[in-house]
Amino acid sequence: VLPAVPSAASDETTVLPPVSGGSMLESDRVAAWFGNHKVLADISLRMESGQVTALIGPSGCGKSTFLRILNRMHELVPSASLAGRVLLDGDDIYEPERRITDTRKRVGMVFQKPNPFPAMSIAENVTAGLKLTGTRVRGSERTELIEECLSKAGLWKEVRDRLGSPGGALSGGQQQRLCIARSLAVRPDVLLMDEPCSALDPTSTRRIEETIHELRREVTIVIVTHNMQQAARVSQTCAFFLAEQGTPGVIVESGPTTKIFSTPEDSRTADYVEGRF
Ligand code: ADP
Ligand code: MG
Repeated sequence: VLPAVPSAASDETTVLPPVSGGSMLESDRVAAWFGNHKVLADISLRMESGQVTALIGPSGCGKSTFLRILNRMHELVPSASLAGRVLLDGDDIYEPERRITDTRKRVGMVFQKPNPFPAMSIAENVTAGLKLTGTRVRGSERTELIEECLSKAGLWKEVRDRLGSPGGALSGGQQQRLCIARSLAVRPDVLLMDEPCSALDPTSTRRIEETIHELRREVTIVIVTHNMQQAARVSQTCAFFLAEQGTPGVIVESGPTTKIFSTPEDSRTADYVEGRF
């Protein structure tokens, strides 16, 4: 758990918090709407620390909406509303007195399309998120943080000699790893990844899967993927989302990934993981 950090408006600290180790994230009967359109119903899921949880299911069943609920991005859509609770280490992130920035600091997000700041240098991209936490790093501490985060994202060896080059000059796979490094610099408790490899070639995908495998020790990971082999390779827990014929998305089944893939309880889960729809 992160120690209290001052807001960006107050004096900045130069002390980086330690690596988190991950938090328990739990959704409790979450439902979501866009206007009158109910897109999720009764989503209860425990996302354990030290684990990777994969969210699988057909397009449009609400996986991305659920991820955005987990870091309070959902409420930025004017027509959006929700019900239920989201507990981060037991505390509801939607309690009225909780600030949205507190959640954002603790719950990072990596998107399908890599989105580094293209004109900023690789080094500046890594530290860009620290403004949000009100943490300022300088000198050797900054140098160490940049190396640490790029190493964890599997990018250090490729970019160590050109840290001043623009982030936009990197390949797609490298840009995605830079985005992971940027997320890690703020020491999140949870990292949400929305189809992080869908825009990448197989080699880059493999590199990111290796990174995810290592990172689960220090941050709780929730990943949306359409790639069943990927879900099987990287996750320990898996949740199958489905929205049938105009009904809101629900979790049909969740549990250990090995069970979901080998002996699912529901025939629809078996059909999906075996590629029958
Ligand atoms: P998935 O990620 O599983 O493909 P999404 O969460 O993107 O599913 O979408 C779930 C449902 O919510 C879909 O019916 C989609 O059209 C709708 N939806 C998503 N974002 C918005 C939005 N900003 N405004 C209105 N409807 C939306
Ligand atoms: Mg999506």
